[in-house]
Amino acid sequence: MDGEIPLLIADDDPITGLLLLENAKKWGYAPVLVQDGKEALDFLKKEDSPKIAILDWMMPGMTGLELVKQIRELSFEVPPYLIILTSKNEREDVVTALGNGADDFIVKPFDPMELRARLGVGRRIVGLNQKLSGAIEEAKRLAHFIAHYDQTTGLPNYHTLLERVSEICMGSTPAVLLFIDIDDFKTINQVLGIDAGDLLLNYFGARLKEVVGDTAMVSRIAADEFAILKPVSKEEMGTPEEIIEELANQITNVLKRPFILKGEEVTVKASMGATWLDPTPGIPPDEFMRRADFSLRRAKNSSEERAVVYDPELEQELKERFALERELDKAIDSGELTLFLQPQFDTQSKMVGAEALVRWQHPQKGLVPPGVFIPVAEESGLIIKLGKWVLEETCKIIVQTKKSQLPIAVNISAKQFNREEFVDEVKEIVSIKGADPSRLIFEVTESLLIQDVHSVIKKMEELAKIGIRFSIDDFGTGYSSLMYLKRLPISEIKIDRSFIMEIPHDENDVAIVEAICAIAKSMNLELVAEGVETREQIDFLRSKGEITFQGYFFSKPRPWREVIELK
Ligand code: C2E
Ligand code: CA
Ligand code: CA
Repeated sequence: MDGEIPLLIADDDPITGLLLLENAKKWGYAPVLVQDGKEALDFLKKEDSPKIAILDWMMPGMTGLELVKQIRELSFEVPPYLIILTSKNEREDVVTALGNGADDFIVKPFDPMELRARLGVGRRIVGLNQKLSGAIEEAKRLAHFIAHYDQTTGLPNYHTLLERVSEICMGSTPAVLLFIDIDDFKTINQVLGIDAGDLLLNYFGARLKEVVGDTAMVSRIAADEFAILKPVSKEEMGTPEEIIEELANQITNVLKRPFILKGEEVTVKASMGATWLDPTPGIPPDEFMRRADFSLRRAKNSSEERAVVYDPELEQELKERFALERELDKAIDSGELTLFLQPQFDTQSKMVGAEALVRWQHPQKGLVPPGVFIPVAEESGLIIKLGKWVLEETCKIIVQTKKSQLPIAVNISAKQFNREEFVDEVKEIVSIKGADPSRLIFEVTESLLIQDVHSVIKKMEELAKIGIRFSIDDFGTGYSSLMYLKRLPISEIKIDRSFIMEIPHDENDVAIVEAICAIAKSMNLELVAEGVETREQIDFLRSKGEITFQGYFFSKPRPWREVIELK
C-alpha cells in the first residue's frame, strides 16, 4: 500500500462510524469522520478533500441522496467516488441512489471484507481518473505551448507578442517594438542544411536575449524574423529614436561574433525595423505590429545598417507613390501619355535628329514631368510597359514621317534592356509597325554595364544588325570604364547636361568636356551635347570639333508634329 489514502466517512450512528473508522485505518486509509450531511458536503466540495467517501443514507442536515445529487452538480478535476450506506430494507433507495450519481452501495450490517473490496474498487477508479486528468492537463499545457511558443527556438511566437503588445497598449508605459530579419537566411539553409538553419535560429534568439536580458521579450514571429518588445521606463534617457538606435547598435554588435554551425564559422547580418509604441487610445495593437513590419520592409530594401524607425510622413510619401504607380499603369493604357520630340542640330544649325521624350497629361494634375514618374516606373517595373509604348509610338512617328528620314532617339531603361525578351520584342514591334529600324537610336546609360557585359554586347550586336544604333546617355555620370566602352557596338555619346551647364566658366567641367571630346574623336563616335542653353556654350563646344546640339537654346521638347513634317 503506497501511502495512506484520505477517506471521508459520513454517518450519524456513532457505533457504525467508529467501526468504519477503525477498519479503514487498518486497511491503510486516513479516514475523517463526520456526522452530518451538510458537513460532509462542505468537505467534499473542496478540490483537495478525500476522493473516496462512504455516505450514510439517513443523516441529519442532508440525506445521502441529496448529498450525491449536489456533489454531481459540481465539476471536479477528479470527481469523488461515492459509496452509499443503506439498511437492508431500503433496496429501492439503492436504485435511486445509483441513478442519481452514487458509484456503489453497501448494505448495513456490512461484511468488513466486502467493504474493503468495494473501497478497493473506488481506489482503482479514482486512480484511473487521476491519471486521466493528469494526461488532460499535460495535453492542455502542450496545446498552450504550441499556441504561444515557437517549437524550434522555444521563444514566444507572434501570437504571444501580439498579446503582450495589447497589454502594453492598455497600460501607460511606452515600449520599443523592434523587428529583426536575418539577411540571406535562405542561403544558409540551402548551403549548410535545414538543421544548421534551425541551429542558427536558436543561437540567434539566444544572442538577442543576451542583449536585452530580462528587460524585454524576445520572440520569433516568422521563419527568419524575430521581435524584441522592450518597455521603456520613465527614467530612461533619450528620445525614442535614440533609445531605438542604442538597442539596434547593441544587436549589431553581438552579431559581429560569428556563429559556429556544423564546425563552420558563419557571420550573419540583420535588417531591423522599429516603432515607438506609445499607448494611444484609438490605435489598436496590430497597428503597431504593422508599423514595425513596415519599417522592417523598408530596412530590407535599403543597404544601411541602421534600424529603420517608423515615420508616418515616409509612409504617406510611399502611399502617394503607390497611388501614382497605379495611376500611371492606367494612364499608359488609357492614352494619357504623349510623345514629345526635342530636335538636335549640327554645327550649321541644321536639324539632324530628335530625342523622343515621354509626357504624361494627367486629367487632374496637368502635365506631370518625367522626372517624377520615370523613377516610379523604374522602381515598380512599369518601365517595361511604358518603354514598349514609347517604342511603338516612335515607330508610328517614323512611319508617318517617311519623307524626313530624321533619326529618332529613344531612351531605353536598363531594366527594359536587360530582359531576355528585349531583342525579340524590339524586332517584333519594328516589323509590325513597318518602321525603318535604321532611323532608331537607342539611348542607354552606363548603368547597363553593371550587368553581364557579354550579354549586353550580344544584344546590342543583334539589334545593330537590323540597323539600330546605340548612344550612351548622360555620359560621364556613370562608372563605366573605357575598356568596356570600347567593346560595345555604340555609335554616339551624349555629354550630360550637368557638364554643359557651367562651361566655359568652370575649369573642371571644361576639362571633363574636353576629355569626352577627345574620347569621342579617338573612338570615332558621334558626340551630342545636351542641355545647351547659351551662345557661349555653343561657341565653346564648336571650337572642339564636330558636335550635335540639343537644348533649350534651340528648342524645348515639343509635340512631335510640331518638330518633323509628316510625309
Ligand atoms: P534625359 O534622357 O537626359 O533627357 C533630357 C532631359 O533634359 C529632358 O528632360 C529634356 O527636356 C531636358 N533638357 C533638354 N534640353 C535642356 C536644356 O537646355 N535645359 C534644361 N534645363 N533641360 C533640358 P525630360 O523630358 O524632363 O526627361 C527627363 C528624363 O526622363 C530623361 O532624361 C530620361 O531619363 C527620362 N525619360 C524621358 N522620356 C523617357 C522615355 O521615354 N523612356 C525612358 N526610359 N526615360 C525617359
Ligand atoms: Ca536621353
Ligand atoms: Ca541625358
